[in-house]
Amino acid sequence: MDRKGRILSGMRPTGRLHIGHLSVLENWASLQDAYQCFFFVADWHALTTSFDESRSIRANAREMVADWLAVGIDPERSVIFVQSLVPEHAELHLLFSMITPLSWLERVPTYKDAVQQHKAKGKDIATYGFLGYPLLQAADILIYRADAVPVGEDQLPHLELCREVARRFNHMYGTVFPEPQALLARVPLLPGVDGRKMSKSYANVIDLAAEPEELRARVNDMITDPARIRKTDPGHPEVCVVHKYHGIYRPAELAAIEEDCRQGRIGCVACKRTLAGALEEVMQPIRERRRAIMRDTGYIDDVIAEGVRRAAAEARQTMEMARQKVFGV
Ligand code: SF4
Repeated sequence: MDRKGRILSGMRPTGRLHIGHLSVLENWASLQDAYQCFFFVADWHALTTSFDESRSIRANAREMVADWLAVGIDPERSVIFVQSLVPEHAELHLLFSMITPLSWLERVPTYKDAVQQHKAKGKDIATYGFLGYPLLQAADILIYRADAVPVGEDQLPHLELCREVARRFNHMYGTVFPEPQALLARVPLLPGVDGRKMSKSYANVIDLAAEPEELRARVNDMITDPARIRKTDPGHPEVCVVHKYHGIYRPAELAAIEEDCRQGRIGCVACKRTLAGALEEVMQPIRERRRAIMRDTGYIDDVIAEGVRRAAAEARQTMEMARQKVFGV
């Protein structure tokens, strides 16, 4: 089959995946036929903020790959690997660090915010590694000479930096790298059960592997319209977390739910029950597949080893070209 080109994407193994990651993974799965996909566990990136919790990263990586496989990332069609097992990423990062002006990194919009946010939580991430992580991302992408990267709007500045670095290298030494395009992913943003951004640090996530009881409990924790005291009180679905989830997981019923809520014809308990049922339908097969995969961790290790083999072959070729251009030998 003719594919449109090569894409690359990764995730940090900082803990168990949650339902917010599901849409991202479903998007990855949908790209597998159209593109040659490289999906990687970004374990070096995890160190930029979790350098003091490094011992859990490898175990998290294996768990995360199990989640990917359970959702439908297919090792026959896609290359699945762990970043730090392909050291060429680090070599290219080093070369890029020699030619990238510091100001390019300092102006990345999320940098100062992230440093402040972590500082407020008592963690100092104003490190050399954290400042340079967008450059490591550029190396992750360009080491495979990827044509496109699936990104959300918030990651566009990082991709622009990657394109600038590719342009600068090609201009200084000769062309090696393409300028990868953004593949804007229409991935719905799920709020946490408390209505804030879904994040483990807010303890408001629904684990992807949550058992049915835990899933129901998390749906019961969801914030609804505080103005509704009795079932017959007219509701305001636009302020309700349950309503947002219905919009993603029961879109065909959304208009009827809204109407029933506004007219006070449905209570929040019943509304949550139908949502929990819909989520269970989505998560039950994933949970079953994941359980089967985790029974044979040797299989996961084999998938990673084969992915590393395929990724490293590509990365070595790119580094040979890059070294040749830089050193002329
Ligand atoms: S009825 Fe449903 S949509 Fe309306 S406030 Fe309650 S949980 Fe939210």
